[in-house]
Amino acid sequence: MMTTAGDSERATVLDADGRRLSSTTIKKARRLLAAGRATLVSESPLVIRLHYTVNLPPRPEPVAAPPVGEGRTILLHVCCAPCGTYTVERLRELRFEVTGFWYNPNIHPWSEHERRRETLARYAAEIDLPVIWSQGYEMREFLRAVVGHERFGERCAICYRMRLERTAQVAAAQGFDAITTTLLISPHQNQNLIRRIGEEVAALYGVDFYFENFRRGWARRGHLARKHDLYQQRYCGCVYSEWEAGDPEARKKAP
Ligand code: SF4
Repeated sequence: MMTTAGDSERATVLDADGRRLSSTTIKKARRLLAAGRATLVSESPLVIRLHYTVNLPPRPEPVAAPPVGEGRTILLHVCCAPCGTYTVERLRELRFEVTGFWYNPNIHPWSEHERRRETLARYAAEIDLPVIWSQGYEMREFLRAVVGHERFGERCAICYRMRLERTAQVAAAQGFDAITTTLLISPHQNQNLIRRIGEEVAALYGVDFYFENFRRGWARRGHLARKHDLYQQRYCGCVYSEWEAGDPEARKKAP
């Protein structure tokens, strides 16, 4: 059968509800128009609208992406139990298999370190959170590292790195997929700096650093800390922060 150039082109077909159907040949479209079974919508390009609706198969439901933590283990550096409340809840919501990690040689003095550690131990038991406890108290190493860099911010970068690097080291040695830290929840910490250092040390040890702005859970953190009657400290951790919390002039006195 002879075909013309026009026959090889396609016409757009709409049903009576205006839903787009498979296109058809120009010839068939003209036949439908001639038979009074369709109305001309546009001549060029040729678009016709059928006088009846077509039962289209339902569109497949979009498949939701699996939660980011599905099937993945994460080692969560925990600075204190209150900051661990929302953070653990959120990571579990994302389906991570969460293990806490305690390593905070910055906390001064020893009695304060112990009080925070014991609070976390009690809370972890309540929420069924496994925790890896780093042994000892490396306060001397921390102080040696920040000597000459005592200014707020400068010493914090050293403090973040020390804690996150140990977290990445342990995570790699024990086969975790990723690390993150409860420090990301605090509005008093430098979140961008934590993220940068976290990503650096994670890459160094071949694990992922999971970043999320956990600060959106700050109010929930307070609620959960009160509900579980957790000890809430009034200073960040190091001896300098204890001084700064009590003396507003202290930061100006830093070298
Ligand atoms: S203020 Fe907090 S983050 Fe900064 S060095 Fe002290 S303990 Fe570390």
